[in-house]
Amino acid sequence: MSTLLDGAGIARDIRAQLAARVARLPQPPCLAVLLAGDAAASRIYVRNKIRACAEVGVASELVELPGTVSESELQQHIEYLNAQERVHGILVQLPLPAHIAAQNCIDLIAPAKDVDGLHTHNLGALFAGAPRVLPCTAAAVMELVRASGVDPRGRRAVVVGASNIVGKPAAMLLLQKGATVTICNSKTVDLGAVTREADILVTATGRPKLVTRTMVKSGAVVIDVGISRMADGRLCGDVDFQGVAEVASRITPVPGGVGPMTIAMLVANTVAAAEAALRPHC
Ligand code: NAP
Repeated sequence: MSTLLDGAGIARDIRAQLAARVARLPQPPCLAVLLAGDAAASRIYVRNKIRACAEVGVASELVELPGTVSESELQQHIEYLNAQERVHGILVQLPLPAHIAAQNCIDLIAPAKDVDGLHTHNLGALFAGAPRVLPCTAAAVMELVRASGVDPRGRRAVVVGASNIVGKPAAMLLLQKGATVTICNSKTVDLGAVTREADILVTATGRPKLVTRTMVKSGAVVIDVGISRMADGRLCGDVDFQGVAEVASRITPVPGGVGPMTIAMLVANTVAAAEAALRPHC
């Protein structure tokens, strides 16, 4: 039977450390959140982010826009926030309405204010091995791997899911920690044969219960990023938790695993951006 990796508890500890850092700043850091449309899930995520900020003394500004907002209008809001000294971090809540090219908008955020770590320059720096700001969910995955006590160096890591937001950056960070990494996508043939190789298994597909007990090596660390809402309203990860918990050594729950850690990493990136803004520029 595996030990739970308690993301909610670890996130609480991280927030307490961040509150102490915020208390040393001359003014509270400020996160601006742009929310376009009224998708229920996005509203919940934004509310949780703003609540986590408030808990550590980070101010937030929510800019709510209709789902019909044009790409250029959204970009004007980003440019305005870029120019505001009081704003240290800018977050565009994803997904954006389908008519807006998300990466175009993210790439307009000043890289120093890109607290989601998804600007092409910041992703490039990460992939080049000189990370500046880490994408929040990938950073959350690495914090949970650290909490597992398993050193990735020399281990086999498998990341199921290859998005720019989660899968690729998580794989890159595991690689940089010395793991031998395989990335899977929807075209992977015999997924179970690949996942069974993993000492560290990260899943980020949004396919509920895709990973079952027989696909996991005994003693593996399993980090489940996926979040899907089932017909009965409950949240479910990519991993069949009951079965996999019987073979994994450590496992994250959904909810209460990667989700709260992702938010803690967002707050951490915002605090770091505010600290960096105080340093003299060369
Ligand atoms: P995404 O952009 O839709 O990417 C999904 C990835 O999974 C793609 O690379 C896709 O392959 C792959 N995939 C889909 N079905 C697969 C299958 N049967 N076998 C193997 N790979 C498969 O999603 P995302 O933005 O990365 O998010 C993934 C999940 O994480 C979602 O449930 C999302 O809600 C959740 N999420 C959670 C957090 C958190 O804080 N906990 C944060 C972000 C995202 P192809 O490339 O071939 O299409």
